[in-house]
Amino acid sequence: MNDKKRVYLDWAAGWSARSEVIDQFAKSASSFGNASSYHQVGLERQKEIEDAREKIAAYLQTRPKNIIFTSGGTESNNLALQGIYKKATEYDPNKKAIITTPIEHPSIIETAESLAGKNLLFAKVDKNGLLDLNFFEKLLSQNQTSAALVSVQYVNNEIGTLQNIDRIAALCKKQKIAFHTDAVQAHNFKTPIDFSKFDNAFISISAHKIGGVSGAGALAVPDFSIIAPTIFGGGHEKGLRSGSLNCAAISAFGSAAEIIERDKEFEERSLAFAKKIVGAIQTDKELPHIQLNGLPVGDKNRVNYILNLQIDSSKSVDELAYIFDSNSVAISFGSACSAKVLGPSSVLLAIGKSDARAKHGLRVSFGYKTDISDIDAFLKLLKLV
Ligand code: PMP
Repeated sequence: MNDKKRVYLDWAAGWSARSEVIDQFAKSASSFGNASSYHQVGLERQKEIEDAREKIAAYLQTRPKNIIFTSGGTESNNLALQGIYKKATEYDPNKKAIITTPIEHPSIIETAESLAGKNLLFAKVDKNGLLDLNFFEKLLSQNQTSAALVSVQYVNNEIGTLQNIDRIAALCKKQKIAFHTDAVQAHNFKTPIDFSKFDNAFISISAHKIGGVSGAGALAVPDFSIIAPTIFGGGHEKGLRSGSLNCAAISAFGSAAEIIERDKEFEERSLAFAKKIVGAIQTDKELPHIQLNGLPVGDKNRVNYILNLQIDSSKSVDELAYIFDSNSVAISFGSACSAKVLGPSSVLLAIGKSDARAKHGLRVSFGYKTDISDIDAFLKLLKLV
């Protein structure tokens, strides 16, 4: 199907791969071999993996030897939390606590809950989802001896809040607590997102959120002495993550990271789209029941490629979703990752919305193919909600 006939404004759920990335994927997928084999063909696959490792390391401003490939963001988050927790509690049984925020992705919250149980501690976020740094600093010092790790996301997947990760990382460093950030929704364009400002973070990223193909992810590991493996087998990926690597998806991931890093105008284009949408809801007399959730567009603590609109309508969320879906405009209510269940968003509840309002948060998100005609088509339908 020709995608230009459809309006796709759900890039935070998954990007389409660019043609260069697909070429790289096809080249690798049509080749023989397993990157672990000791023959010429295996070595060729290994070279593809190592090229991708270099590109991902450059993207994350770290060294190739610090990159562990996984199957995606969920696995990277699980490896970080489970692996660090396991090592910390083996070393010191008092280290039973995990500190995180209430607006994390389920792959963090569910994993942290299963590990720490009643020792799971939530740092405070404000009405825009921004971490309260004073409260956080106190929480760290009060739990310094019991905290196995801290995990705070870089960019929120529903409202686009961008945390002060460099300051958060520095506070964890000062208290000597392991720090992980879920950076799946943070695209590295240097500004406002810059991975070079801290060196102690375990960082999770996912291929299909930056223009790669689903089935690959990475975890940046700044210190191998404080993380244990969680998947056992042939000892691949420095013994931390066994299993034959998804060579085609990983080499495509490397190309995607290289391309997105060069796309300096993406944030600017997103800002223009976001301004157009927010301008419409602020000025159009037909849209008084729609407001922006989270920080204002252009604020330094938000990305502009994810917007969440509060729709105060008597229509049910299913009716609202139908308006867009039946007109081939892809947007999402709640988090697409746990979608198909249009319940209240845990992120909107955590920033203080009522149950009813937390169901009526509409997310639009932009990617490299988004153009102004997509925004116009969306705004036309917004008048029907
Ligand atoms: N973290 C965040 C913030 C996400 O948005 C997502 C995907 N929606 C994930 C983790 C999980 O990534 P993946 O889909 O690659 O498992």
